[in-house]
Amino acid sequence: MEHWSAQGLRYLKGVGPKVAEKLARLGVETQRDLLFHLPLRYEDRTFVTPIGGLQPGQRAQIEAEVMQSGIQFRRQGRSRRVLVAKLGDDTGILSIRLFYFNARAEAQFEKGTRLRCFGEVRSALGDLEMIHPEFEVIDPQAPPPLPQTLTPIYPTTEGLHQLALKRIVQQVVDKLVADGIAETLPQEWLARHDFPDITSAMIDLHRPANRAASELIARQRHPAQHRFVVEELAAHRLALLERRHAIRQRKTPAIAPDTALEQRMLDALPFALTGAQRRVLAELKRDFAAGKPMIRLVQGDVGSGKTVVAALAALPVVEAGYQAALMAPTEILAEQHYRNFVDWLAPLEIDPVNLSGADKGKRRTQKLARIASGDARIVIGTHALFQPGVDFHRLGFIVFDEQHRFGVEQRLALQKKARAGEVPHQLIMTATPIPRTLAMSVYADLDYSQIDELPPGRKPVTTSIVSEQQRASLIERVARACADGGQVYWVCTLIEESDALQAEAAELTYHNLASALPQLRVALIHGRMKPAEKDAAIRAFKDGATQILVATTVIEVGVDVPNASIMIIENPERLGLSQIHQLRGRVGRGARESFCILLVRNNLGDLARTRLDIIRGTQDGFEIAERDLEIRGAGEVLGTRQTGEASFKIADLVRDQAWFGEVEELAQLLQRPQHASERTALLRNWIGTRQDYTDVG
Ligand code: ADP
Ligand code: MG
Repeated sequence: MEHWSAQGLRYLKGVGPKVAEKLARLGVETQRDLLFHLPLRYEDRTFVTPIGGLQPGQRAQIEAEVMQSGIQFRRQGRSRRVLVAKLGDDTGILSIRLFYFNARAEAQFEKGTRLRCFGEVRSALGDLEMIHPEFEVIDPQAPPPLPQTLTPIYPTTEGLHQLALKRIVQQVVDKLVADGIAETLPQEWLARHDFPDITSAMIDLHRPANRAASELIARQRHPAQHRFVVEELAAHRLALLERRHAIRQRKTPAIAPDTALEQRMLDALPFALTGAQRRVLAELKRDFAAGKPMIRLVQGDVGSGKTVVAALAALPVVEAGYQAALMAPTEILAEQHYRNFVDWLAPLEIDPVNLSGADKGKRRTQKLARIASGDARIVIGTHALFQPGVDFHRLGFIVFDEQHRFGVEQRLALQKKARAGEVPHQLIMTATPIPRTLAMSVYADLDYSQIDELPPGRKPVTTSIVSEQQRASLIERVARACADGGQVYWVCTLIEESDALQAEAAELTYHNLASALPQLRVALIHGRMKPAEKDAAIRAFKDGATQILVATTVIEVGVDVPNASIMIIENPERLGLSQIHQLRGRVGRGARESFCILLVRNNLGDLARTRLDIIRGTQDGFEIAERDLEIRGAGEVLGTRQTGEASFKIADLVRDQAWFGEVEELAQLLQRPQHASERTALLRNWIGTRQDYTDVG
């Protein structure tokens, strides 16, 4: 009979078709997958903090009574209901705001109810508040006991509440406690390293046994953690190596190194390439000549000049009779690239096409015809490029700009536009400066180049840290800069990963600025807006129609508005340093003296200050990335939150470097034929059907 762990999720309480669909989005389809859906982190809910002792920025648990509550209506485009409540204990008062709630929640916030809440504490105009805490009603006479061990927090997805997910996982953990699952790794290897068996290791992580175990876990010292870290990294490595091997077997366009077109383009360029650009271009041409599919990641800091390298690399492709495609993550960037390409390629009589989602009717038909006939030798565009109906004559080379913005499926969809059986060469460009050691382990399947030099003559951006108290004078400074013809970005951040809350924060700042500065045109852009709305907002800013652009971190990549000279980032301590660096890279592009202002709350901790001092002290993206990596870990550096690429369930490439030796050893052991079944199990458990590892296009 089939083991329970291989069964689907419908046997579990709380899993209907809708929840199953959400779990599938997390890569969870069987009960075993749920076991491997390990906690992301743990929270300490073993104690209650008095409201008087709360600090902004802290995640805390409180117990308090609802003193008043009510629904407020706000009009922001569409009207919206907000549940606002004041909770008090003997030591102070805290506001709660819920933007999404049902009738049941409304009833739970009735005056006089006692609630236990857990959430992030924020300061709002001097008051403390929690937005969307987890909460439960408690009986003041008999409050339920507090947990004795750490509370696991699982990675989840929009619409699937942490508590619901936890209840589902715990059912499977109950079964695990009752009858275990089969070991997946070679016994002698486990014994050699003194690693625990799979069943007890699983139980330990989902349900820490006691305080002692909790403390080991909190310090990342628990043997169960070590076992799974090594396991996961080995699985990752094996999957990447298999993928690379599979791709290298495939047929690819033969491209002779041509230099005639290249020379003509170089002669016409208004600048000389930097040494780093020349070196990377040579690496790309060497790949073409090798006769195997190129998959090369090129990293270069903001402004290092990746685009021109991509254009030059496309020339031998074109010369060999193939088409090259450049895919950008937004219409704005595609348009920017198109204009550059037109300038650069005009002397070569190459006329690129920019295919936009907005192209309709005759214009679209004409462009599609040029692409299908091969007359369009270089095609630039966004996601529009891989839609059905777009047929290439002979696609030989694809450039993905800002690769971390693309999902893997989208990359594969474009690859499939090549001729059957032929894998196009691929160049993936990113501004996210990933330290080389890290890149080599995360992208074991890619070749890797760096443009580690900026073109000469770049103006530095002056970075300063300004405290919340100086907000009013900062707004005056913004007003002066705008009166002087300048433009300003104002970026709002929130630690919560929810788009909705990020958007709330930006909307609030937008309204405050718009009313404080009625003489200026303020615009808003955030991730909840439609793509067309976002592009319109950026275009208006680009054209100078708006002077202040209030944004979430959606504007991080690529946007080029040389007239903008001030970048204000609220609560920058919540971002990865590389992310701040990317945002800062939006200014310092034109003739104006440029500033990046980090607007921080008053009681910034020492660590946060140290981090921001790194940003203030250097403009070298690679240096920042190295230091960021030391402080925060790989996930943020890679910017993987959006795409889930290179995301680990339990491993952390920085923290776990000490285990790389064991990882290598396990990967090698499992490559032996006698361990084929263990290898299969390992890949199934950790990689599953993740297309980014398994599909070679
Ligand atoms: P990124 O690497 O961030 O994508 P871009 O390709 O957009 O950078 O280049 C930034 C700017 O620098 C562009 O205006 C580009 O034309 C210019 N540029 C690129 N290479 C050089 C160079 N070698 N010398 C001077 N300017 C350059
Ligand atoms: Mg770029």
